[in-house]
Amino acid sequence: MSISRLARSIAPSPTFALNEQARLMRERGEAVINMGIGEPKNKTPISAVLSSASKLNGGDIKYTPPDGTPSLKKSIICYTEDHYNRIIEPENVIVSSGAKQSIFNILYSILNPQDEVLLFAPYWVSYPEMVKMCYGVPVILTPEDGSFIPRMREIEAAVTSYTKVIILNSPNNPSGAVFPPELVADIVDFCERKKIYLITDDIYHKLVFDGAQAVPAYEFTTKSVDDSMIIAVNGVAKTYGMTGFRIGWVVANRELVELMTNVQSQITSCTSILLQAAAEGALNGMQSVVENLRLTFQNNRDIMMQELKTFNGVRVTKPMGTFYVFPDFRAYSNNSLELAKFLLERAQVVTVPGKEFGMEGHLRLSYAGTVKDISVGIERIKWALDPNSPNEIYIGDRKKVRDWL
Ligand code: PMP
Repeated sequence: MSISRLARSIAPSPTFALNEQARLMRERGEAVINMGIGEPKNKTPISAVLSSASKLNGGDIKYTPPDGTPSLKKSIICYTEDHYNRIIEPENVIVSSGAKQSIFNILYSILNPQDEVLLFAPYWVSYPEMVKMCYGVPVILTPEDGSFIPRMREIEAAVTSYTKVIILNSPNNPSGAVFPPELVADIVDFCERKKIYLITDDIYHKLVFDGAQAVPAYEFTTKSVDDSMIIAVNGVAKTYGMTGFRIGWVVANRELVELMTNVQSQITSCTSILLQAAAEGALNGMQSVVENLRLTFQNNRDIMMQELKTFNGVRVTKPMGTFYVFPDFRAYSNNSLELAKFLLERAQVVTVPGKEFGMEGHLRLSYAGTVKDISVGIERIKWALDPNSPNEIYIGDRKKVRDWL
């Protein structure tokens, strides 16, 4: 069969693949704990449900403009003013089917073949694959000091004359690290001087802990959105727990937004009017929804840290945002793919191998689940790996004995 070499080179999303595996195991009656997927457990905010339902009841479900309904764009403009301190025009905004499509559209609209995109490891799994899908070259910068945040001099050294874009994701998936404002300021300054686009993936920007702040890149430029190299990505998936609604957006200079709108109009035409109405409802509704989620994740993070602290040999950096932690399991294995497979088979806990995020030896654990999932999940991982932990455990209603250590 003759198929595209490029398509064949694209890896499946590991988080979705693992999620499917967990679902199938659960269907077989196995007591799986899913620490793999990044998905808040909350119910959809009522304002989002009502807004979408009222649209549905009206029965007028048609195409919208490719860049989004004027009323959702208006809500995004208000959001940008509130959270980015920027006054923007409708021409600076485009709505897409999730932040994922937003990022793809940006890369598709700015990359020429062989252009380089600088990514900081650990990075979100989809960035390198999307860059490749746009015929670009992902260049990975791994911080020398073993931390999750690169130094400015490392960034400068990794940039070449082919570098077209830098992607900054803070708070970061998978590490939960929040980049310090001084570093964000330096990156913005550097990108503006070198005329390199800076995509800031702000999808977790409100899910920060202990008073930390993810200061938006726009804070550090005096340029208008139309003159700036900054392209900001956001959406309702994480902060409102609306992953299934698939609404993300981009704030950028109008020239790029126009290009992206042309591209999107040829691919999906537009995002569903029902889902756009839901996003509008969330943005205009009670914002205590977001604060409740943030507090839940902060509490879950604390429980996760407590559990991991008593885990022999596991090194962990406290996450300051998101709902992930990215501990170093090299005391047990240098091969995160094998380790994750082992934990799934023996302990029935889904984790995501660090290798997928460009950092071997780590596992990403999500604490978006229940408190019970966190403590039972870590107890099982300890049982499977740590010879000092009790060698008998109940998984579901089955007693299991560890006979491999
Ligand atoms: N960026 C990052 C860093 C993410 O973790 C995710 C979701 N896992 C996305 C973008 C995509 O978000 P959406 O569901 O809106 O497509």
